[in-house]
Amino acid sequence: MPGVIHLLPESTANQIAAGEVVQRPASVVKELLENAVDAGSTSIKLFIKNGGSTLVQVDDNGSGMNAFDARMCWERHATSKIVKAEDLYNLNTLGFRGEALASIASVSEVEMRTKSAEESVATRIVINAGTLETQENAAATQGTSIAVKNLFYNIPARKNFLKSITVETKHIFEEYQRIALAYPEISFEFVNQGKEVSKLQGGSLLDRISDLFSVKKEDLIVADEHTDIVDFSGFLGSPKTAKKTRGGQYLFANGRFIKDHYLNHAISSGYGGLLEEKSYPFFVIFLQVDPAKIDVNIHPTKHEVKFEDGRYVYTLLQSVVKKTLGAHFVVPTASQLSNAINSNPTAPRLHVTQPDGRFNPFETPKPRVATSWEKLDDLLNTPISNTRQPDIFTSQEEQPVQSADIGGIFQVDNTFIVAKIEGELSLINQHRAHAQILFERYEAKQTIASQQLLFPRTVELSLADMNLYLEMQSDINAMGFDTSEFGKNVIIINGLPSELSKEDGASIVVQILDDFKTNYQELKINKKEALKQAAAKNAAIKAGKSLEIKEMETLVHDLLHCKQHTHTANGLPIIVKLTKSSLERFFQ
Ligand code: ADP
Ligand code: MG
Repeated sequence: MPGVIHLLPESTANQIAAGEVVQRPASVVKELLENAVDAGSTSIKLFIKNGGSTLVQVDDNGSGMNAFDARMCWERHATSKIVKAEDLYNLNTLGFRGEALASIASVSEVEMRTKSAEESVATRIVINAGTLETQENAAATQGTSIAVKNLFYNIPARKNFLKSITVETKHIFEEYQRIALAYPEISFEFVNQGKEVSKLQGGSLLDRISDLFSVKKEDLIVADEHTDIVDFSGFLGSPKTAKKTRGGQYLFANGRFIKDHYLNHAISSGYGGLLEEKSYPFFVIFLQVDPAKIDVNIHPTKHEVKFEDGRYVYTLLQSVVKKTLGAHFVVPTASQLSNAINSNPTAPRLHVTQPDGRFNPFETPKPRVATSWEKLDDLLNTPISNTRQPDIFTSQEEQPVQSADIGGIFQVDNTFIVAKIEGELSLINQHRAHAQILFERYEAKQTIASQQLLFPRTVELSLADMNLYLEMQSDINAMGFDTSEFGKNVIIINGLPSELSKEDGASIVVQILDDFKTNYQELKINKKEALKQAAAKNAAIKAGKSLEIKEMETLVHDLLHCKQHTHTANGLPIIVKLTKSSLERFFQ
């Protein structure tokens, strides 16, 4: 008896694949532009009509194809870019699946003209819904022109799914911008409904950015950092360029635009207190990674990539941003910031933690000829973790210090505590230390004393924040807050953790909810963990706060009793120790 299983005809298989590769006209634009780039073009023109639904055409002056390849390229899995699976780990082209053209041709009417340098005549090919209609010699110069007409004409259900012309055109323009940014040396032109909307001369990245966006060149800061694992280059917008939306964030990995909220968050967080609340900096950053350490084979549209060690890349990226900005700006001191905030309640709330511009995770301290002050400066800015970064996110097997001998304690810049711990000179970041203590207290579910406010405060929240608040209310109150619902989208704060300063109690609750949202959405950690981190960060004493000897002693004592006291949950150093041997190095 014959079975019920049969192979699908090639045309049906291509249409199914097209469902993944070709979601909308912008996907066609992306695939055609990428092919033109891969073909080594120096000039690429894009023409569209009606949001790309009636026409997407890309003309290039790249390698072109001979008559055989001109036919072959429309077959599924036909590619000149890889030969075997291992080539995926050594990929230097944007394409590799060999399915874009076959998929596009199965759901549209295409016409191609192409000529390679070796051929004397060009080839013209017409394919309708995957069926070859014409192949003939034609006249053309070297390069390729592919016109995709009437997308989805044979699949009405997909066609009806398209959004308005304006929306589809916007998506197309975004793809155009991304490719144009990644390849500033190539000239691009974009013609919509017969009208030229963009013409870009090949040149430097800086020129390309200023041609594409209304960002002034003087507001762009060069980022350029090389490490063993990743190279960073591109530009960071100054804080002035930050917007309330995330539109201006362009991150590329090995020449591909990537949409990665996690890594974008790493960059934004590297700005630290330089940004206003809920604003997103403009940036165009390129990461160059050994192709073996990056997996682009996740989704056919390839906006996602996977790094071998994503968390490590996160920390590196954040540090590079800090370092780049730190070198560029004279960062206001923490005390200036907190004064500004205290004296002006309407001023934008800033994170008071001072971005440590000199923190550089890539430098391992190596002996070199330098003055002792330079050496001290080096060591002070060298996190103790930097020879073992890859484990910074994994929970470390640290043991709480039972009873440490603490002596000679004092504060520097109202930000760092210097103390002799077990005979070793130790430098402690007071804000991080306190945040870690609080975090572990929340983890241990210790009862935290709450102090009632003389004048309870009410805070109005957005509907979304209110829902979030209601969901997390008991967790928030477990951390020493006494809050409850008080009418529509309003909460009342009756009490605060007794350790917290009373002035900004209301804003701290709002800030915690805000940071919680970001942590939860972007750091991909669970809700309770995200809330604890947000609360610890906001409730902790800030950099710039002067402390009494007794307070410092308690802080250091409590820190040493933490399960993890050398690093925060995010892998940032809390204590830097100057060991005997590092001290001896000063005097060599
Ligand atoms: P992929 O890019 O993944 O290899 P495509 O279906 O996009 O797959 O393209 C198939 C092949 O057609 C490419 O590998 C390339 O050899 C050829 N090709 C496509 N577009 C062009 C072009 N504009 N110029 C030269 N060759 C091209
Ligand atoms: Mg391709």
